[in-house]
Amino acid sequence: MSKNIQAIRGMHDILPDRIAFWHRLEDAARQVLSSYGYSEIRTPLVEVTELFKRSIGEVTDIVEKEMYSFEDRNGDGLSLRPEGTASCVRAAVEHGLLAQPQRLWYRGPMFRYERPQRGRYRQFHQIGVEVFGLPGPDIDLEVILLTARLWRQLGFERFRLEINTLGDQGERQAYRERLVDYLQGHLDALDADSQRRLQTNPLRILDSKNPQTQQIVADAPSLADCLGDETRRHFEQICSSLAEAGVAYQINPRLVRGLDYYNRTVFEWITDELGAQGTVCAGGRYDGLVEQLGGRPTPAVGFAMGIERLVELMQQPGQAIEPTVDAYFVAVGEHAQRAAPGMSERLRDAVPALRLITHCGGGSFKSQFKKADKSGARFALIVGDEEVAREVVGVKDLRQDVEQRALRLDELVAFLAANI
Ligand code: ATP
Ligand code: MG
Repeated sequence: MSKNIQAIRGMHDILPDRIAFWHRLEDAARQVLSSYGYSEIRTPLVEVTELFKRSIGEVTDIVEKEMYSFEDRNGDGLSLRPEGTASCVRAAVEHGLLAQPQRLWYRGPMFRYERPQRGRYRQFHQIGVEVFGLPGPDIDLEVILLTARLWRQLGFERFRLEINTLGDQGERQAYRERLVDYLQGHLDALDADSQRRLQTNPLRILDSKNPQTQQIVADAPSLADCLGDETRRHFEQICSSLAEAGVAYQINPRLVRGLDYYNRTVFEWITDELGAQGTVCAGGRYDGLVEQLGGRPTPAVGFAMGIERLVELMQQPGQAIEPTVDAYFVAVGEHAQRAAPGMSERLRDAVPALRLITHCGGGSFKSQFKKADKSGARFALIVGDEEVAREVVGVKDLRQDVEQRALRLDELVAFLAANI
């Protein structure tokens, strides 16, 4: 026998018994985002590879080793998107959306060739936000506040907010030189990855996970010393507004983020409940990117949250899954089976919110009841040939011990409308 084909490593099916959590998260996000006036944008999953090289940066982990890149039949170099920001910028420039400020959001799968482990997959999902055309700290604050609101709605009470400022291009350049000078002096003690990054992306060394490198980094010069007045004011304004809004935060001077395009504000929401992959949402300002991708200079800020990590938190004990069905239509006997589909349609017409499974495949009352119970439905609606003759439907509460009742269809409509 040939071996069964399985899903690709690091890419997962989301099965029906988990989907309720995804819906709850996606519905809450959509509701919060629309309450702040954000519009959804959907872009293709595949883009030309050059887009990601130019935006994320040639010497980042993503572009160096994590992209799913291939040539299509035409010989064009394409990649599955590893993140959403580059596509949003491309689309906004391409369709001339940047003449006025835009508050956009997206959701969907992203693809990165990483080592699969808890909280880290090769296909994973993000919900993200990109705001274009607003330079001030007020919008940085807004995108953080709306994430805080989403956590409250979902009952996530213990997320930690870390923020930092990376300064502007010039400030970062000055810092980069100082940092490289310092690290050169400790070259032999750095881990291999960090030695390599010293020439390409030295800021990234600041968030190295290697303990020995971390020790060296602890005494490195501080980016804060290279920041000018304007950058400081921008950052202080966000911090004081967060405090005023009652959102607790920690300034983390080592928070640099993995992507090249960030400047000024960067932030992460972190939980201690997921082990090593504890960052559930990350973002920041990227004022240079639109211009870098051929648009006119446009300030921008955004974030992306990792849906799998959030869903894993929702699935922890004590978080019940809501049933997905209200009623299960049981029909036994020739007349009843013929009448059942039409009656079910009438119920769906009359009670649009009703989630009703009409039994298919025949069988005895006993076997149909078993399926009704397993479906999670609250009510079994029962029709045998006797009910057809009396023009009634039997209603049995599957979750509470109350006597079965016989209702006319109009009574049943009222009953279901009141009880689901
Ligand atoms: P990390 O340092 O964990 O690799 P990152 O900087 O690559 O994170 P971003 O590109 O900022 O992450 O993505 C935003 C969020 O998307 C992350 O905070 C995380 O919640 C989620 N995420 C990123 N990569 C993965 C992945 N491979 N699998 C699952 N979720 C992911
Ligand atoms: Mg990563």
